[in-house]
Amino acid sequence: MSLPTTQKAIVIPEKGGREVINFTDIPVPEIKAGEILVKNEYAGLNFIDSYFRSALYPIDFPHTAGREAAGTIVAVGNEVTNFAVGDRVAYLAAGCFAEYTATSAKGSISKIPDDVSFKTAAASFLQGLTALTFVKEAYEVKKGDYVFIQAAAGGMGLLLTQLCSGFGAHVIGTVSTPEKAELAKKAGAETVINYQENPDYVSKVIEASEGKGVHVAFDGVGKSTFDASVASLRRKGSMVVFGNASGPVPPVSLLILTAKNLKLSRPTLFNYITEPEELEYYTKLLWKEVSTGTLNIAIFKEYPLAEYATAAETLETRKSTGKVILKI
Ligand code: NDP
Repeated sequence: MSLPTTQKAIVIPEKGGREVINFTDIPVPEIKAGEILVKNEYAGLNFIDSYFRSALYPIDFPHTAGREAAGTIVAVGNEVTNFAVGDRVAYLAAGCFAEYTATSAKGSISKIPDDVSFKTAAASFLQGLTALTFVKEAYEVKKGDYVFIQAAAGGMGLLLTQLCSGFGAHVIGTVSTPEKAELAKKAGAETVINYQENPDYVSKVIEASEGKGVHVAFDGVGKSTFDASVASLRRKGSMVVFGNASGPVPPVSLLILTAKNLKLSRPTLFNYITEPEELEYYTKLLWKEVSTGTLNIAIFKEYPLAEYATAAETLETRKSTGKVILKI
């Protein structure tokens, strides 16, 4: 198959807001001996793209945006033995908001089962793996646990809600609108609190959790919700902060943990799937959950690659529920 030499891509030339996003032409990468080249079909939006653009997470500029996509392998380097041309794959790598992406064959890549579409794979890979690793390793959610999920109708929120309620846990979630409340309920949340109507919602969380507070709080909102999440925990509870949607949590004193003997963690997916056997274990689990429909992947909207700036605005300004994706 002959490949083009140039392609359309989203380039971030410098640190900035959505105004720096540039839909442009770049060279199709040439692969090295241990790399694969993927022709992307769909890519998933994640807050990490925004964190790189704003330089909250350090990165070199210019860079091609995107961290998650699904497509077909169109070329493999001569040292690659685990993948072949024609394989349908989902993967996590830099530079996915482009028609073609080169990445190491040893990276976070998984063959997509025949019964899972490219669209669903791109919409579920990063967040599905994140949600699965968090409910098993950041805090092992058990039947009967009270679990508090901030932004329960978001991409991560709907997945965490489904998984935790599926384990038989009582899920309490926050949302900002009645429409988001409906979605969180449908995903399995027992108690949903619209925090716009109930700014002092901590007492409601405690009331809904036997008057004791929750066993675990999963908080990807960060700065604006950290204190409320901590206050919602019961004695010996676990605080899992996993994102900065409202900004990063400022430094905290360890003494805040003392009052209730709390545990605090700040996990990231990548440190749970570092070893090949970890990646294998969790991707197998993810595809099973997705194939059987146990995990419903709710796609809010699909945008063409050229409209990434609008797609980013949808995610970053709280307009979306579930997942936002790009058709490449
Ligand atoms: P969401 O779809 O959850 O969108 C973010 C939601 O957070 C909004 O819809 C909104 O819900 C709520 N929110 C509250 N305040 C703000 C604010 N100031 N700005 C924006 N949103 C706000 O996003 P994702 O599911 O893509 O990601 C959720 C979090 O998970 C992010 O912080 C992300 O970085 C993190 N994440 C972390 C990973 C890791 O490995 N650690 C991996 C994947 C995601 P509402 O309107 O209901 O308030």
